[in-house]
Amino acid sequence: MSANVMQSASTVRAESQSGALASNASVALDVVDISKHFGGISALDHVSLSLRPGEVHGLIGPNGSGKTTMLNMLSGYYQPSAGSIRHRGEELANATVQRRARIGIARTFQKPRLLPTLSVLDNAVLGAWPHSRASFLATAFGLPSVGREEKALRAQAAEILHGIGLGHVINRRANLLDHAEQRFLEIARGLVMQPRFILLDEPAGGLTGNEIEHLADVIRTLREAGIGVLLVEHHTDFVFRICDRVTTLNVGKMIKHGTPDEVRADPEVIRVYLGA
Ligand code: ADP
Ligand code: MG
Repeated sequence: MSANVMQSASTVRAESQSGALASNASVALDVVDISKHFGGISALDHVSLSLRPGEVHGLIGPNGSGKTTMLNMLSGYYQPSAGSIRHRGEELANATVQRRARIGIARTFQKPRLLPTLSVLDNAVLGAWPHSRASFLATAFGLPSVGREEKALRAQAAEILHGIGLGHVINRRANLLDHAEQRFLEIARGLVMQPRFILLDEPAGGLTGNEIEHLADVIRTLREAGIGVLLVEHHTDFVFRICDRVTTLNVGKMIKHGTPDEVRADPEVIRVYLGA
């Protein structure tokens, strides 16, 4: 993983952030007392967490506990029924996906969502859409209208792909990638956005031991670059090893928040999720 790529991304962010911050405006992504109902189902019930730059924050819990719903709410795919999502003094609870992407909230999906017939490079470049002035189609198909800005973008995307270990498949169609490659491509696409925060929905799902180690290296590099990582994951050994803090959900409620050691030792977490 190429640390300088991540550093250049975070430097751009740091420069664009300087000056405007009110003294009481948190640089974290703060989820305050969020609830989300689907009809009679309470997918999230008064949950709070704070995703800080340069921290890896685990989000764990049994299936159906509301983890993906939290990601959907942070990235703007769902709007909360109640509560607040704040960043640098801005209320984001009802902000669009576009607005959140522009302030630097990237995500991956539980089942990778790539454009199957486009190349790896084109899929990665699409991650820059919040910053790009060229049209989606011009970017995707490399039409002549794609100017110097787009060339720079493609070079940066290629650099990120090399850094994440996909340099050898940059021109391959995305549907020819194996499962792990697709997962890493999704992360690369998120990084092309130059995010402040990246939300990863079960990124280790279906990965081999070696691939999980590579994922751990990638996530550590993101942390060092100052990116806040929200890690939804069922591989609890991996979560406890890599996370700075962990939040545990059960049927929409937060049951424990703390350091990995605190969460791992919590009787309620053991009862509902980790097993005896
Ligand atoms: P997790 O990711 O922890 O497995 P989810 O966030 O996907 O859990 O789901 C939490 C609960 O919300 C589940 O009961 C699920 O069925 C429900 N849910 C999630 N999304 C929707 C939706 N779009 N419509 C209705 N119910 C949903
Ligand atoms: Mg889920």
